[in-house]
Amino acid sequence: MPLATVYPLVSTRSLVRPFTYEVPEGVGKGAVVAVRFGRRSMRGVVADVGVEAPPGIEPSVVGRLVDDIPATLVDLALWIADYYGSTPARALELVAPLRRAPRGERPSPVARESLEGEAEPAQLTPEQSAAVAQIVSALDEGVGEHVLLDGPTGSGKTEVYLQACGAALERGLGTIVLVPEIALAPQTVGRFRRRFGDRVAILHSSLGEAERRDERDRIARGDARIVVGARSAVFAPIRGVGLIVVDEEHDTAYKQESDPRYDARTVAAKRAALEGAVAVYGSATPRPESWARLRRLSLPARIGAPMPSVRLVDLRRESGYPLSAPLLRELGGLVDHGGRAILLLNRRGVAPAIHCRACGISRRCTNCDVALTLHTDDALHCHHCGRVEAVPRSCPECGSVELARIGAGTQRLEAELAKRVPELERFRLDADVAGRAGAVRDVLERFRSADRAVLVGTQMVAKGHHVPGVALAAVVDADTGLSLPDFRAEERTFQLVTQLAGRSGRDAPGRVVVQTFQPDATPLRHAVNHDVAGFLAGELERREALAYPPFRHLVSILVSGPEPGAPLAALRELRGRLEDAEADLLGPAPVLRLRGRHRAQLLAKTTQPRSVARQASTLLAAAARGMRRDRLNAVVDVDPQSL
Ligand code: ADP
Ligand code: ZN
Ligand code: ZN
Repeated sequence: MPLATVYPLVSTRSLVRPFTYEVPEGVGKGAVVAVRFGRRSMRGVVADVGVEAPPGIEPSVVGRLVDDIPATLVDLALWIADYYGSTPARALELVAPLRRAPRGERPSPVARESLEGEAEPAQLTPEQSAAVAQIVSALDEGVGEHVLLDGPTGSGKTEVYLQACGAALERGLGTIVLVPEIALAPQTVGRFRRRFGDRVAILHSSLGEAERRDERDRIARGDARIVVGARSAVFAPIRGVGLIVVDEEHDTAYKQESDPRYDARTVAAKRAALEGAVAVYGSATPRPESWARLRRLSLPARIGAPMPSVRLVDLRRESGYPLSAPLLRELGGLVDHGGRAILLLNRRGVAPAIHCRACGISRRCTNCDVALTLHTDDALHCHHCGRVEAVPRSCPECGSVELARIGAGTQRLEAELAKRVPELERFRLDADVAGRAGAVRDVLERFRSADRAVLVGTQMVAKGHHVPGVALAAVVDADTGLSLPDFRAEERTFQLVTQLAGRSGRDAPGRVVVQTFQPDATPLRHAVNHDVAGFLAGELERREALAYPPFRHLVSILVSGPEPGAPLAALRELRGRLEDAEADLLGPAPVLRLRGRHRAQLLAKTTQPRSVARQASTLLAAAARGMRRDRLNAVVDVDPQSL
């Protein structure tokens, strides 16, 4: 029997190498087999066949074949393990998830998970035709290309994806369509299903386990050639992928925040390169990284509707926050003439801070260094760890009873609307609501069918949901994001305002109101003029001057522990040993305490992220004993998306 290199799927971090086993004739790379490992039985993935046994080793025989994944996915997983500093076994778990035995027939979840699709337009716009032609010619070259499809909301990007997908199908090739979150899947699935029927499958984590298995089977058999899903759908077991679409490519939800900390956008590019496929990144507000690096195909304008007019309201001159007079006038217009409005306020709860007027101290979580938020249940909630405590009657620091509620959250805004414009029906969409399964869809459906209504929500409402007849979109507090201590604060603010504006007036002349204390802030000035190119040009200049992505990669090393001081000390030592790494090192600096753990971060700016991450991991492994003693935990994050 031939010998094969097999990676047992063990979760221990210390075991990173493959082992040699005998495999039956015909078993190839990508086979998932049962193996004996030590005294345990587990799954293993075959990475190579026809190898020699290392001297003195008597290989054992593998057990039965439990699955068979495309060989390229093995290469993809091993690349992820290396680039993101994970282990081969953990990365292989992503491409070869555990599957249970089938139990009877079930209908595919695709029908249940689809919104109604749209008919194919009679003809494409010249810009759409040009974009499709470029993608199709890249498809025919088959060398692995990455392009950016940029264009405002409603400019026909999805139609370009559909046409490119049709061209791939005609060539016998499959398509993966990634959306940033599950809530956005139904409208995309609906449009693909209307065009391609049963050849569409859906993959995401909130499907039942049996359903996910069935969908994977339909894909593996080749019955479904198109897969729509969130992040993990980039690992769909399609054989012969021609096209990978990454819709709303600016969305940070594409980054996985647990080991392996992969970014599905980077993985999509890698998979496209391995398969000779075309990766198409689409957005109305592309990342500076994509704008600088990718070939651009542009759709310049909305189809059949003008862009909405955006008005900045200067809160230094207008009183009435959270509802300024200009915003109230716009809402009054809806009361008179009918219509729907979306109000974005990127903060949950009633008031983001309870503040003592006497000593100036605001109530903070005792586990995390963040202000507690007052909710309508009259309790203070920590948005990081979930801790809930009663509102104090007097200041625990100085005893004063003069406690003030500062700022507004979504719940307070809702109450304010009830008072000022009671004629409008109110809906709310934030993490407090979205916890329930199907809640997002339910809220959106009821909002869609109301004729005088306001939807209040956090950033969720700015995402790509298509809601017809939105006459007004407003950002209640554009300053929230600008003050974040992250070099992407400007980018995020520009994206949020522009994306929200995109919800307005897709099918009717729409209006947009942006309330801010900083009307001169660069991202707001550009967002008002729908000036994506202008914003990105300035942003790229700034990034280059500061050596931030896309000009350098970042590697973050975060250490946390129960004792103050220890994380910072551990990182100072690490920094000393990293001196000859090819990187500029920033920090270490303390960061917010979280769930009772003290934290510190060291940041590296580098052109060699893999080598820096590898050196850091090696040094951390060497220090493992001391770190265990101090109960320290370390995380190395390559290309982190939030700092
Ligand atoms: P995006 O993905 O950029 O938001 P869509 O592809 O959803 O844009 O297109 C916006 C709207 O315009 C949709 O209702 C779509 O059916 C319609 N549409 C797209 N392309 C055309 C076209 N060539 N002619 C007419 N209508 C179109
Ligand atoms: Zn006080
Ligand atoms: Zn907390």
